[in-house]
Amino acid sequence: MFVVMQAQATEEHVRAVCQKIESLGLRSHISAGTQRFGIAVIGEIGALDPAFFDELPGVQEVLLISKRYKLVSREVKPENTVIHFPGSQATIGGSELGIIAGPCAVESAEQVFGLAECIAGLGVRFFRAGAFKPRTSPYSFQGLGLEGLRLLAEVRRRFGLLIVTEAINEASLDLVEQYADVIQIGARNMQNYSLLKRAGQARKPVLLKRGLSATLEEFLLAAEYVMNEGNHQVILCERGIRTFVDHSRNTLDLSIVPAIQRESHLPIMVDPSHGTGKRNKVIPLSRAAVAVGCDGLMLEVHDNPEQARSDGAQSIFPWQLEELIRQVRPIAEVLDRTVASPAETRGATPLHATAARAAGSAAERDDEPASA
Ligand code: PEP
Ligand code: MN
Repeated sequence: MFVVMQAQATEEHVRAVCQKIESLGLRSHISAGTQRFGIAVIGEIGALDPAFFDELPGVQEVLLISKRYKLVSREVKPENTVIHFPGSQATIGGSELGIIAGPCAVESAEQVFGLAECIAGLGVRFFRAGAFKPRTSPYSFQGLGLEGLRLLAEVRRRFGLLIVTEAINEASLDLVEQYADVIQIGARNMQNYSLLKRAGQARKPVLLKRGLSATLEEFLLAAEYVMNEGNHQVILCERGIRTFVDHSRNTLDLSIVPAIQRESHLPIMVDPSHGTGKRNKVIPLSRAAVAVGCDGLMLEVHDNPEQARSDGAQSIFPWQLEELIRQVRPIAEVLDRTVASPAETRGATPLHATAARAAGSAAERDDEPASA
């Protein structure tokens, strides 16, 4: 239920509606967008009669929200959510395409500093790398944990990059919240409701990846869990779903981008690395993702993917990231979006990817099988 207020409604009118909502054991959320100003009624509404609010002063009309998700929906907030980062010009969901790049996992200081220098040198604003890794096999590398987070904090300090890293449970979220600029919740945890609630209590934006077999409604209800706890800075990320195909690790479902944009005001990014599992498909699917209108790309990059401790087969070389950005920029421009260039980003450093380019062109011919 959404109580639309008249343009001339006073603070007192708004307060009275909120009090009425709360007196029914429900919660109120004031939505003061440019297009509509009103109060969402949150909770188990059941057979609550809209007439209950109709007669209150300042109320224009009462709308019934037809969807199970409310705070994420355009019915409550028609205009797009743009995520801002204190002390940075970076945004996600605004006119600039958000690009998040980095290795699957933090492996060593040398690895993250070398890659971060290349990535910052390309004008990218966000660096990704997992310190806590949810792996299919318990025998696979599980991440460097706190040591990894400390290295990521050093990446931020040295290169001016914003840090995106995953929390896999409540304990790791406590740490990630302190070290990261964006808390990533991975596909495997999209329906870990206690973790979603904990992310909702955090004061940092949350990047929520779509579950391996999640429907659009399940995906948006997961985001609703985070928002329902008070954290409205949620970024959605399509990362491929499990299908019958065996030519790629997952099937990147680009059709969910316009479907989400119709339903929700939240930014939606695309991860063509996990979405395909194969290096040679990352640039083509990145072009397609930008063309379909996503708000940004999450990309795995490694300077020595054959030695990567996770997801080497889908990691592109730094020189390929440079090529990818060159290719998606004109596509973004068709949609009135921009892609930051090195000159525009803070802390930009020169690109030292020439050696990687030479090494990379040979390895690129290999089409390794997708790894878990
Ligand atoms: C990742 O981004 O490193 C990751 C594990 O992704 P996903 O949760 O989409 O598998
Ligand atoms: Mn990965």
